[in-house]
This record gives sequence, structure tokens and C-alpha cells, in this order.
Amino acid sequence: MSLTIYLNGEYVKEEEAKVSVFDHGLLYGDGIFEGIRAYHNRVFKLDQHIDRLYENAHSIMLDLWLSKEEMKEVVLETLRKNDLRDAYIRLVVTRGYGDLGLDPAKCPKATIFCITAKIQLYPQELYDNGLVVNTVATRRNSNEATNPRFKSLNYLNNIMAKIESKLTGTIEAIMLNNEGHVAEATGDNIFIIKNGVLITPPTYAGVLEGVTRNAVMEIASQRGMEVKETLFSRHDVYSADECFLTGTAAEVISVIKVDGRVIGSGKPGEITKELNAEFRELTKHDGPIIFKD
Ligand code: PMP
Repeated sequence: MSLTIYLNGEYVKEEEAKVSVFDHGLLYGDGIFEGIRAYHNRVFKLDQHIDRLYENAHSIMLDLWLSKEEMKEVVLETLRKNDLRDAYIRLVVTRGYGDLGLDPAKCPKATIFCITAKIQLYPQELYDNGLVVNTVATRRNSNEATNPRFKSLNYLNNIMAKIESKLTGTIEAIMLNNEGHVAEATGDNIFIIKNGVLITPPTYAGVLEGVTRNAVMEIASQRGMEVKETLFSRHDVYSADECFLTGTAAEVISVIKVDGRVIGSGKPGEITKELNAEFRELTKHDGPIIFKD
């Protein structure tokens, strides 16, 4: 069945959802996006995703011609048009149509589109048994170049790491920053647990401030765990009791081996499983309702 896509103020069939070859999102990766998730007829953490999108737009001086409320309604209405209550949502804003030069001032209007679809990033078996990952040589972009906090359309840094990862036979990789500290995975944030303390790199380590990351940190604090945002090295990962990744698409997924080193017991850790269960519970209650009836 053909999906219905929101594109620049209209809902169109996916066959008609086309953007210009002069769009700077395509020509230069000039734009930003959000990956959002709907669970149980609600859009999980919609406010946080929309806030991040607008903060990113402000930072890159991209003028959004929809208010935050209108943007939220776009997400909800696209889901309704596709009769979806559980879905992955991709909201994209590009600099828009311009000329062949870099200058964003030549792009009069941002392109906005929203796709809603079903996805499963990893097979269930990997959630049950955990992921094996390796560190790759490609370093995460420096904050002073293209800040990884921007969820920008330019994902080549992550894609290069993904290619490298697949060459080593793994589907996800750990990326270090230029100082050699652990930053994040190619499309997920990373956590370790040591002696009951939950540890994740701070945003200045060169990471996206993941919505799932923040939700998991909140869950952990609420259950009385100590939560630390601090720099750490690969050695800390190797000697952690547990390790897991978080992301909107991946959710919470255990890591059981890194660079050939078994992490903890070599099985998904108990605390990770509990955090995951609480995360799943949260998805039942958080966010605006899609279909009111
Ligand atoms: N880091 C990167 C590089 C990402 O692309 C993503 C999103 N896929 C994340 C972290 C996780 O962020 P979120 O929890 O907001 O999806």
C-alpha cells in the first residue's frame, strides 16, 4: 500500500512526494531531521523531538515556516492519514530549493516533509542475546566542525563508520572523538554500567543528545541509580559490568562484546534489562494521543 507523505503543506501519495534536484538538502546535506517513534497510539517524547528540531534550526539559521504546534500536528496527522498507531516517523527539514552555490540565502523556503512507516532496526534475536560491536578508526566529527549535537542531514561521518563496521563483520560500531574518548555509536548513544553507576559521555564529548538517552537517564535516576555524564575510554567499556546502546529506532539494546572483549557476563545485563522494561512501560503512557476515539 502506498504511504501518504506530508510535503510542504500537502498530504500526497509517496509516488508524488518529490523534491527538486536543486534542493540544498540533497546538494549539500543542508538540513536537519528527527527520527520519532509512535507506540500504543501515542507519539513518544514528541515535545522533546520538536524542541531539538527547532533548536537545531535556530543554530543553523534555518527558518521554519511552521510553528511548533503546527509541526506536531503534521506528525500526528501524517500518522492518522496512514492509519498508524505504532510507527517510526521521519521528520525532515531542508534548506530548500536554491541555486548550485552554497549560499543558503539563495534558498527562499525550507522544504518540510514527514514520512511515517513501520520499521524494525534489529532482529529480535539481537535484543535477546545482545550486540557484538567494534571500535572503528573513523572519528566522530569534532564539536568545532559540524557539531554532532545537530541532527543534520549530513551523516557521512556516521556512514563511513557504518561501512567500516560492516567490513569488520558487525552491524554497529563505537566511534571515538578526536581525543580518543568514547563518543557514541553510528546511530545510537552508548551507556556503560560499573558498580551500579550508569555512565554515558557528556554532550561535549561529541554526541547527539539523544531523546532515548535522556529518557533512560531519567528512568535510572528515578529508580535511585547514580547517573554520571563523564568522559571515558575504551578500557572503561571493556571493564564495564554492562553496556548498552539507545536510540529511537534501536530503543535499548545490550552490547555483549566490544573489540573482542566480552563485557560482563557476555549476556544482556540485569540492570539493562530492567531499564529496558521500564523504558517500554514509559512508551505506553508518554506523548500526545494520535486517534482520540
Ligand atoms: N546518536 C546518533 C548519531 C543518532 O543518529 C541517534 C538517532 N538515531 C542517536 C544518537 C540517538 O538519538 P535518539 O534517542 O534521539 O533517537
